[in-house]
Amino acid sequence: MSSKLRWHPFLKEWVIVAGKVQERPVLPARNACPLCYGGVEVPKPFDIAVFENRYPSLTKETSDIIPWEDDLYKLEGGRGVCEVVLYTMDHDSSMSRMPLEQIEKLVLVWEDRYKDLGSLDFIKYVFIFENRGEIIGVSLHHPHGQIYAFPYIPPIIEKEIKSSNEFYNQKNKCLFCSILERELNDGVRVVYENKHFVAFMPFYGRYPFELHIYSKRHLGSLPEMTYTEKMYLAEIIQKITKAYDNVYGFNFSYMMVFHQKPVKGDFPNYHFHIEFYSLHRAKDKIKYLAGVESGAGTFINPLPPEESAELMRDSIRRL
Ligand SMILES: [Zn+2]
Ligand SMILES: [Zn+2]
Ligand SMILES: [Zn+2]
Repeated sequence: MSSKLRWHPFLKEWVIVAGKVQERPVLPARNACPLCYGGVEVPKPFDIAVFENRYPSLTKETSDIIPWEDDLYKLEGGRGVCEVVLYTMDHDSSMSRMPLEQIEKLVLVWEDRYKDLGSLDFIKYVFIFENRGEIIGVSLHHPHGQIYAFPYIPPIIEKEIKSSNEFYNQKNKCLFCSILERELNDGVRVVYENKHFVAFMPFYGRYPFELHIYSKRHLGSLPEMTYTEKMYLAEIIQKITKAYDNVYGFNFSYMMVFHQKPVKGDFPNYHFHIEFYSLHRAKDKIKYLAGVESGAGTFINPLPPEESAELMRDSIRRL
């Protein structure tokens, strides 16, 4: 079934209406994992595997959808690609438990997918992400991430581009480089730093344990990184996911999203970063998004970033 996009007339953004997603398997038993080697998706042994999502929210083929628009509503085919990235054959592993070399290879796979999907003429944005944990709504536990290749620039990215352009026009410098400089100066929210990347809980974090990883060098996407930078990116991702799991001693639920520049066009003021969001606000407490976040668009963060940064630094010390 082809994916459809419906235009939200007052939020001015697309909503994906995807019928087939409802048929997704929900937490199959251990021996029925479709992502394990020998399962339905990957018949052969693999190291890292990428395949198209069987239940895509965006579909490659939408020629059966006739786009229409009247004076109020608009509908188009949701033409895009949804891929699943299997991090490892080991069902019980996770980003935090994988050897560093495996994450290094994964970074190269992400770069390859960004370039490859980005070269498709109908794709404007390649979005790499991982949902981890049942409280985030993950239906399969096998370590994996996903990639959505969009036919448009998603609204959050669009907003970030707009803000960074405005900032540059006013101050003649990069918004993200300025944030990084400020966070390094303030210091209290910095969690970890290696030669090429910094991880910090941003001053303005919306979620408890929200953490951002910025490249120290001003660059927009994975292909612009040197090989060395990519290896350091793997290192900091490993450190941060280990630190999350070690905070309370259980598998930490999170969303990890890559914010890179769009694949077509020129975005000199955009700056590569990764954002992690969590819903844990204490060892046995979960922050649910509810009326104020969903209905008013204002986030209430119950855990100040300075406190979560200290918890994360302590977690790293105990690793
Ligand atoms: Zn599995
Ligand atoms: Zn920058
Ligand atoms: Zn961002």
